[in-house]
Amino acid sequence: MGKNLIERLNEGPVLCAEGYLFAMERRGYLQAGAFVPEVVLEHPEVLSQLHREFIRSGSDVIQAFTYYGHREKLRIIGKEHLLEPLQKNALQIAKNSKKEFKDLDLMVCGDIANTNVWDPNDKKTDLECQKMFEEQVSWAKEAGVDFIVAETITWLGEMKIALKAIKDAGLIAVCNFSIKRNEKTRDGYTPGDACKILEDSGADVVGINCFRGPKMTMKLLPEIREKVSCHVAALPVPYRTTEKDPGFLNQTDEGCDCIPGGNAFPVALDNLYCNRFEMAEFAKECANKKINFIGICCGAEPHHVREMAVALGRKPISYKYYPDMSKHYAHGTDPTLKKLNTEKAKTL
Ligand SMILES: [Zn+2]
Repeated sequence: MGKNLIERLNEGPVLCAEGYLFAMERRGYLQAGAFVPEVVLEHPEVLSQLHREFIRSGSDVIQAFTYYGHREKLRIIGKEHLLEPLQKNALQIAKNSKKEFKDLDLMVCGDIANTNVWDPNDKKTDLECQKMFEEQVSWAKEAGVDFIVAETITWLGEMKIALKAIKDAGLIAVCNFSIKRNEKTRDGYTPGDACKILEDSGADVVGINCFRGPKMTMKLLPEIREKVSCHVAALPVPYRTTEKDPGFLNQTDEGCDCIPGGNAFPVALDNLYCNRFEMAEFAKECANKKINFIGICCGAEPHHVREMAVALGRKPISYKYYPDMSKHYAHGTDPTLKKLNTEKAKTL
């Protein structure tokens, strides 16, 4: 038996690459809008490959791609009958990926998210929400996951229902809020206060994910770190969101005038993309601030993950191909390179 998540976090950072929706949409395996992970059933081999790439890049966690594969999301595309097979397949694919890398100490986690049905003014939705979480948690537990992440939830009220479902199943709970521009949960709590309430209700790890880029995520982390004593998680989206528009759901790309409707979210964010070094800086800063559950959400690609791993002092499998510009024909420094080319490097 390997160490559990908390024991691992006690020793130092744990890296978690997720946000598969965007990676799969860009590759043409699911539809932006409803964002349902149909790839799990239709092209499992593509999902396996993405898991493989993230693992090779240094992710310690394989998150089963059940995100947005819940009852309400499947209802909206008229495929509620696929709920159970989708959830179970996603869990199996994640487990198979772990088996592929026997030498690594990988963890598999389940994933539950915002149900989009919870309404603080409608008590009935408590139960509806609870049932949705419970069924997903039970499938994840059956699959033997190491822990469960509840993520991109914007209400403390809904997060509490998610947390209860995880803890009632006896599993380790990571609870990550997504925080909008007013820097509060939708029910009006600061991220630190909301996280503290969750910690007091039994959450093992608390924090934030999605919506915000690295800088706008970092802005909210000190308050959380200060108010809780448990481990803290931080998984931004790899986009340069700003004080003006801290979340990626509303982004303008000044460099482009042909984006339909003008909102760069979700399919025209390319020009606002963070490079690998920006994500590495984020990982380093997290580690310095004792924020040990470090990751990357919607938009993540393996090159980001590898640089974050390297920033944390690791050499993941794909480090084999880590850039070495000394051998570049023009920018290189290798003595065997032709001066004819290297001398002109600055004029290309
Ligand atoms: Zn995300």
